Amino acid sequence: MSAYEAKNIPCRIKLDANESPYNLSSEDMDIVRNSLSSLEFNRYPDPQARKLRAVLARRYKVKQSQILLGNGSDELISMLIACFGGPVLYPVPTFSMYGIIAKAAGRRQVEVKLDNDFDIDTGRMLADIKRVNPKLVFLSSPNNPTGNCFSSERVLGIAKTAPGVVVVDEAYQPFARSLGSNVRRGFLPLLKDYRNMVILRTLSKVGLASLRLGIMIASEEIIAEVNKVRLPFNINTLSQEVAIKLLSGKDSSAKAVKLIVKERERMFEEIAEVDGVVAFPSDANFILFKLEDPNMVYNRLLKKGILVRNLDKVIKGCLRVTVGTPQENSAFIEALRMVMK
Ligand code: PMP
Repeated sequence: MSAYEAKNIPCRIKLDANESPYNLSSEDMDIVRNSLSSLEFNRYPDPQARKLRAVLARRYKVKQSQILLGNGSDELISMLIACFGGPVLYPVPTFSMYGIIAKAAGRRQVEVKLDNDFDIDTGRMLADIKRVNPKLVFLSSPNNPTGNCFSSERVLGIAKTAPGVVVVDEAYQPFARSLGSNVRRGFLPLLKDYRNMVILRTLSKVGLASLRLGIMIASEEIIAEVNKVRLPFNINTLSQEVAIKLLSGKDSSAKAVKLIVKERERMFEEIAEVDGVVAFPSDANFILFKLEDPNMVYNRLLKKGILVRNLDKVIKGCLRVTVGTPQENSAFIEALRMVMK
């Protein structure tokens, strides 16, 4: 193995990590500041993060006992693999941590290629599930780095057939368009019918990446099992308090999410119009696009101060750009046009 490098490349416009471009409003910043003075820094955090779980249970309309929190959803992925083991099966290309964590845990990884539309290849996937009997299946929908949602029927087909736990990672769900009846709340309403399903959410993409808060939602039985491998005090007091305060009131991230979705649609159209570039439709806060010489374009964009993600080694010819503020997006489009010329 080699260490995961989250590179900190100096740039003027940072569009590489699928973060929100918007910091807290000054109102929310005041709320955070005011909450600090009452904290007991000398004490361990609430080991069960009860108050925060109660706030989240209301938000997601589930019981508190159906929620488990992680230091980012990365930690939840790690807990799931520690708890249920392998083989760990997932379609590719997808979020790299499923494979990295499975490998670090000494678990077998089984990668199944997506079809030509980046959707689940049901035939291939069901055949592999039958062949290897995976303890865990990870499905990122919307999928990182391709940006699309998998079709609901295919996800549910896998959930129905898989012998183990099926994790639907909905890190980017808040940005998904209404593609079908269940898309607005993602797969949450289906949890009661699919007892082996686990849903992952995160606050990282909606403006609170610094807190490191991942949210697992599943049946009480699954949550109780995974809780056995959770380390005590995994959510620090600052993250608990800030999240409680910010999530208790109205959803202050909703406006930003709406603007990001609107900008994504504009960017998609404008990227698609650039000669020599193919853009893939997205349900997330980023867009994957393909061109002939991704390394040259990546470097030329960086020279202009714009950092995107080079995915050439993962999907040949592809770069991924995160949706930023309208000004950042316009600067990116302008730079892309010039470089392609
Ligand atoms: N799942 C997916 C699909 C992701 O893209 C990411 C972040 N890149 C994560 C999970 C991890 O998010 P977190 O910050 O909550 O650990």
